[in-house]
Amino acid sequence: MGTVLPGIAAPEARRASAARPLLRYTSSPRNPLITATMTTKKLAWAASLAAAFLSIGLTACTPDTDIVPSSKAPPTAAEAAEFAAAAESTLMDLATRAERAAWVRSNYITDDTQAIAAEANGLLTAAAVDLAGKAARYDDLALDDDVRRKLNRLKLAMTLPAPPDPAKIADLARISGSLESTYGTGSYCLSRSDYGGTASDQDCLDLTGMTQIMASSRDPELLRELWTGWRTVSPTMRAEFQRLVDLGNEGAQTLGYDDLGSLWRSGYDMPADDFAAEMDRLWGQVKPLYDALHCHVRDGLAAHYGEALVPEGQPIPAHLLGNMWAQTWGNVYDLVAPADADPGYDLTERIVASGMTEIDMVLSAEGFFTSMGFDPLPDGFWRRSLFTKPRDRDVVCHASAWNLDQVDDLRIKMCIQPSAEDFVTIHHELGHNIYQRAYNQQPFMYRNGANDGFHEAIGDTIALSVTPVYLKTIGLIDDIPDESSDLGLLLSQALDKIAFLPFGLLVDRWRWQVFSGETPPQQYNQAWWELRRQYQGVAAPVYRSEADFDPGAKYHVPANVPYTRYFLAGILQFQFHRSLCEIAGFEGSLHRCSVYGNRQAGKRLNEMLAMGASRPWPEALEALTGSREIDAGAIIDYFAPLMDWLDEQNQGRNCGW
Ligand SMILES: [Zn+2]
Repeated sequence: MGTVLPGIAAPEARRASAARPLLRYTSSPRNPLITATMTTKKLAWAASLAAAFLSIGLTACTPDTDIVPSSKAPPTAAEAAEFAAAAESTLMDLATRAERAAWVRSNYITDDTQAIAAEANGLLTAAAVDLAGKAARYDDLALDDDVRRKLNRLKLAMTLPAPPDPAKIADLARISGSLESTYGTGSYCLSRSDYGGTASDQDCLDLTGMTQIMASSRDPELLRELWTGWRTVSPTMRAEFQRLVDLGNEGAQTLGYDDLGSLWRSGYDMPADDFAAEMDRLWGQVKPLYDALHCHVRDGLAAHYGEALVPEGQPIPAHLLGNMWAQTWGNVYDLVAPADADPGYDLTERIVASGMTEIDMVLSAEGFFTSMGFDPLPDGFWRRSLFTKPRDRDVVCHASAWNLDQVDDLRIKMCIQPSAEDFVTIHHELGHNIYQRAYNQQPFMYRNGANDGFHEAIGDTIALSVTPVYLKTIGLIDDIPDESSDLGLLLSQALDKIAFLPFGLLVDRWRWQVFSGETPPQQYNQAWWELRRQYQGVAAPVYRSEADFDPGAKYHVPANVPYTRYFLAGILQFQFHRSLCEIAGFEGSLHRCSVYGNRQAGKRLNEMLAMGASRPWPEALEALTGSREIDAGAIIDYFAPLMDWLDEQNQGRNCGW
């Protein structure tokens, strides 16, 4: 389901169950199904139910959105202002109900809670669709800036607007549910039973099982079979996806956009084409670092798997990078790690040895924000959050941050483990909560990140401040390792954050071309692999043709979730971090900076957060950084020591592809 409301950024790692997440954010650009305890069948069922409710909501039980006084009289600016205010209040009410139902569903997964959540979500979706359509009545009026902005946001919040035709609305809802269901229930049975390892008894695996093996196996045949096997799930999506493209384009055109991609790109306070060019500019800034990383990683893989499988000067085979989509490479760290890169402590061990409870870990992260001058989290946060995995029921374990009443009913939901990864993730989730609370004085339509990249970036920005100095300050480690041992940490971060960037860019590159018709259906797969090669320098390990539909093997394509936000967040977090460090007066290597305890940095951060989406994002960016331009240069600063090292390693190697 593609409808999204104002005030919402669907996280990369959102669950597949709800039609769309509301004011709720999850942890990282990984797959949504990995940590959920919910079965894939249930997820798919909930998705199709939510889809069904969209059509019912519009035809049978449309909520009270009939707030256009009289469509026969000519529209006026005063009427538009009234309409915007009424729309806002309707949506806030429905959003709060949907959010509550979704919270209960995610904490007690039963058939009934899923039905209730799907119903609440269907009503909200129907209202959003309806209101966006009605807002078109005011398209040609001269309006107050604020009213115009709200009406625009009403339209732009739709990631999949249906054409105003009941049959097409129902068709689109059915297709959306079916695509997500195909993805959610996908599985593959291994052709051999002698692989050993973690394969299940039947050797039939869902995506979670496949993902786990992809992360750890070094058997190239098994990896190739899993890679290919997962992609047997998606060819059946092709016809439905093509229909989704046609209907989505028609809906976007009804709202006044050239096509659906143009609608997506219009959500960034600049002309759609300028935004596309801006993304290319940012990619150009980080590409030298990516190229150096690519070269070094390919060399490490060649040393392990042999030059025949990983030849120099060629794209890296996509099945060898430890991830089903080759989008993050942290799982092959051991194959490419520098010598002497031991930071001298293991944070997970230290957390366990310290005897910290799950609550202690959250208190510690809260302490980060209060040290910067933010208020403590409200009592309700501590009473209502889910911190540990219940023993007696199914819950969605994937970490997420919520604000149920859109004001200050903040919560996280997470099955916390005493690990370094979860310690960082808690900081990330609380970043979302702090943002949500900071903009809660704004009108409902503006209770969101400045653009959809900002929200994920804030959590990650704070996580960048979880440095050895910070860990010593809070007593988790005794000694700060010498800076000369930071290479391992930097490389490990780069394998996830830098390796991700070209993938974060190309998913929507491909969709923009598909939506505009530049890529016709008979070239879907070919165009996908051209972009994969061009941006990522990876190649399919086996022959691909138009009998395949490899884009469908990535969740966000069948689920119709825009993807550029993750690329943006990947860039913005370093720019935010650098600015906070400058405000704090930090001197030294950027990757060693922690803004823990700095109230001036906290004050400036809050100034940006409190704006929400009330102003064009360059103004929000300026409030923190003093600049209206996104700048990927902070990434280059942050990874400067790594870049030097990579350049040394890569000497004499035939880099590029
Ligand atoms: Zn997040």
